[in-house]
Amino acid sequence: MALKPCKECKKEVSTQARKCPHCGVSYPTKNITQGCLVALILIVCIPFLVVQCAGNGSNESNSNTPKTAEEIRSDEIKKNFSVWDGSHIKLTKVIEESMHDPDSYEHIETRYIDEGKKLLVTTIFSGTNVYGGRVRSIIRAYTDTSTG
Ligand SMILES: [Zn+2]
Repeated sequence: MALKPCKECKKEVSTQARKCPHCGVSYPTKNITQGCLVALILIVCIPFLVVQCAGNGSNESNSNTPKTAEEIRSDEIKKNFSVWDGSHIKLTKVIEESMHDPDSYEHIETRYIDEGKKLLVTTIFSGTNVYGGRVRSIIRAYTDTSTG
C-alpha cells in the first residue's frame, strides 16, 4: 500500500484512503496523482521542445555543447592573442612600453609554444631604435594563460 502526502495537511496518507485520517479531506491523494500525470506529460514534451530549439539554431547549439578540456584551454590561449594579427595582446603592450618609439612598432609574427601552465611566446617585430634606424627584433616571453 503506497503512501502519499495529503493535499491539505501534507501528512502521509494511503493512496487507497477516501478520507484523510488527519484532516478529513476527501480523496487526500487524488490531486497529487493528477499532478504527477502533468509532470509526466511535461517530461515527455520537454525532449520535443529541446529538439525543436536545436533545430532552429543549429549554429548556436554547437557552441553550447560542453567543451573538452583541450578546447577550453585553446580558447583561453586565444583570448591572449589579437584576432587581427595574432600578436600577444599584453606582450605587445610590454614591447611598446619598452620601445624608444612605440609608434614605430610593427608586428611581424607571433608564435607560441604551449608549455602547460605557461606559454612561451615568440614575437618578431620591427621598430625604430635610438639612432632612428628600423630594426627587427625577436622577443621571447613566458606568459601565464590565466593572467596573461
Ligand atoms: Zn490531511
